[in-house]
Amino acid sequence: MAIRNYVGFIPNPISKRSQALRSRLGDAQRHISVCPFCAVGCSQQVFVRDGRVIDIEGNPDSPISAGHLCPKGASTYQLLNNPNRPTKVLYRAPGGTDWEERPLDWAMERIAQRVKDARDSDFQLHDASGTRVNRLETIASIGGATLDNEENYLIAKLLRNLGVVHITNQARI
Ligand code: SF4
Repeated sequence: MAIRNYVGFIPNPISKRSQALRSRLGDAQRHISVCPFCAVGCSQQVFVRDGRVIDIEGNPDSPISAGHLCPKGASTYQLLNNPNRPTKVLYRAPGGTDWEERPLDWAMERIAQRVKDARDSDFQLHDASGTRVNRLETIASIGGATLDNEENYLIAKLLRNLGVVHITNQARI
């Protein structure tokens, strides 16, 4: 291919190496999503290869942001893939002074047991006036910023079935 300039035709200025280059995302599946961080709701492109998310970028078709993401949104990939993410919990026993490392499974089991214990001991059928209330007031739930509508729906559904009334979330999307 030759390109016309004011003098005449010149050789293709793009090197063979550059012509052979391909996007690192070329063979990835592209899924459209929404940034989980704030109510602006910038659209994102999530690129997946072999069942793994390999990149998340702004969506040029977004009427809100036209492909741009703020620094927070641009870091969304690190929510999924991050070598610095803690994989253990720190536990301090009642009355203890030192933190101990425990596996996540241990923490999940313990939380489940504590929830069951609270439900078994504190569930109220009636209030002081005898009115039927079916509630559990010794557990409260505070949702995180990156929970989406579907996750908040499931959390509310689970906790309401336990009788929990104090439920909130940082609803953004
Ligand atoms: S990219 Fe930034 S401005 Fe856009 S939704 Fe995410 S956090 Fe909000």
